Amino acid sequence: MHLKTALLAAACVLALSACGERSADTTADAMPDANQAPATTTAPAPEPVAPAPEPPAPATGDQPAATVADCATTIEGNDAMQFNVGSIAVPASCTEFTITLNHTGKLAELAMGHNVVVSSESDMAGVVADGITAGVDTGYVKAGDARVVAQTELIGGGETTSATFPVSKLQSGGPYVFFCSFPGHSAIMKGMISAQ
Ligand code: ZN
Repeated sequence: MHLKTALLAAACVLALSACGERSADTTADAMPDANQAPATTTAPAPEPVAPAPEPPAPATGDQPAATVADCATTIEGNDAMQFNVGSIAVPASCTEFTITLNHTGKLAELAMGHNVVVSSESDMAGVVADGITAGVDTGYVKAGDARVVAQTELIGGGETTSATFPVSKLQSGGPYVFFCSFPGHSAIMKGMISAQ
């Protein structure tokens, strides 16, 4: 009896101390775990949030957005090789959209010609290169270029031209840009155009 009691007591002490140690260990382990858990769950959370707000129409340089009314806009090109707008927001509710270009300068078409050409951003370089090859006779746009969504005539100072195109052409496969295809001008004379 005495031996059994002693063994029981010893077992109890061992069990208690083991229990005590374990609970102390688990508490100690739980503390860093608890600190790590929120750290790992909060870290990935901001990542999907950050890229989201950016996409909508990045304006080119400090040029303002075009003023749009009645499914149309009028923009200007000048003798300093500049458009007066950096982006065009086409209302998605419009069936067709018209861009009118006023050349507010005085220089002739051969020296400072401007047009407005619309294509996807990824097609722009090819449209410009083929337009230069095509030459001034076709307004620096290759005849029948399927990459071109819209194009106006090439004009000189004091002249006005316009182009009308279906808005549906901007509703897939973008982003789209508008630019002047006169040699060298598209580096500066360009902006984003999108149906919104
Ligand atoms: Zn130009």
